[in-house]
Amino acid sequence: MEAVKTVVQYYPPEPGLLDLMEHFRQMVNASIGIGLETAKTSLKSLSIASYHRLKIFGTRSEYRLCAISRAAGILKNYRNLSKKHRVRVPYCRRAGLTICYGVKIKDDELILPGGFHIILNNYVLRVLRQPNIRIRSATLTGSRIGVSFSKETRLLHPKGMLGIDRNLNNVTAVDSLGNTLIHDLSRVTLIKSSSRRTVAKFKRDDHRIRRRIAGKYGRIQRNRTRWILHNATKKLVDHARTNSLGLALENIKGIRRLYQKGNGQGSYYRGRLNSWSFHEMGRQVSYKASWEGLPVVHVNPKGTTSKCSVCGDRMVFSKESRTLQCPPCNYYVDRDVNAARNVLSAGLRFSLLGLSDEAVKGNPTPVVIPGVDDSQSSLGSGAQPEQPKT
Ligand SMILES: [Zn+2]
Repeated sequence: MEAVKTVVQYYPPEPGLLDLMEHFRQMVNASIGIGLETAKTSLKSLSIASYHRLKIFGTRSEYRLCAISRAAGILKNYRNLSKKHRVRVPYCRRAGLTICYGVKIKDDELILPGGFHIILNNYVLRVLRQPNIRIRSATLTGSRIGVSFSKETRLLHPKGMLGIDRNLNNVTAVDSLGNTLIHDLSRVTLIKSSSRRTVAKFKRDDHRIRRRIAGKYGRIQRNRTRWILHNATKKLVDHARTNSLGLALENIKGIRRLYQKGNGQGSYYRGRLNSWSFHEMGRQVSYKASWEGLPVVHVNPKGTTSKCSVCGDRMVFSKESRTLQCPPCNYYVDRDVNAARNVLSAGLRFSLLGLSDEAVKGNPTPVVIPGVDDSQSSLGSGAQPEQPKT
């Protein structure tokens, strides 16, 4: 299995490189035009149709091929999107380039085909000089360069699982050894709400200016929150690596549809819930885990918040905030910890670790009064929610 990562740094581009980036943009647009004209969108047919016609730009063949490859990617997205939505004809606006042929590192410089040298900083050099690493490609914009690299990893056989529950204000993880990890993310929510308020203040009735301002604040907000998420996901993956655990996440794809306009919710509530960076968190966990060779499973999110992690019965809200109570087993638990336990028990079913009882290790044994509790709770303490029907 090949795991891929990217490292980014800022750099001052030389004038020749800026010209090349502009040519690259024009080549991508020319190739998109040819693809739309001839209805050829696959990489191979687009290469045959446009490779010779791009010679007028006078760039090296490596850049030409990469421009065609990017155009093929854009056309593929366009083709998929235009089946469902009305979308504009694609057009590449920003100068920049991606090159995957002949990217080398010599001394402390990155060398691109055509004799372009870019001085790399110490951090990037340290990352790229790790053993068993292959440089894959470089992506350049007017101010930043990203170098993508990969390594061959072997999927480890985990000794346990780590169930991760992503929430708006924290990320809670419970592992099959009985440890609970909680990382506070309330600062992310705070930064996002303050930037949302700032953007909402601009009342200029001009969508171009509004878009520019929203873009600027979005960028600032991303820069301020990204490192907090990176810290949290790094700690989670480090914990999983040292204890050799697999990771289980909820598959909450499509959750944004619950908070759309017209669903009868207020704009404040929708804004709050839609600023939740659950996808970014899942992405970071997935790529960091695959770099370490740890398996990641995505489990069905149904009932993870509402079910008791001991007996599988429905929980009710208790008087304390964010605490749930299970009436049959009279069990009080933090709602995030309960959800993480449910994710863990669902994740354990993916692995061949055997005992699903491990998921409830450390839980108090519930007291069941026969005849008083209903039939479901009299199944006993070891019964798991959502047992697979075989
Ligand atoms: Zn219970």
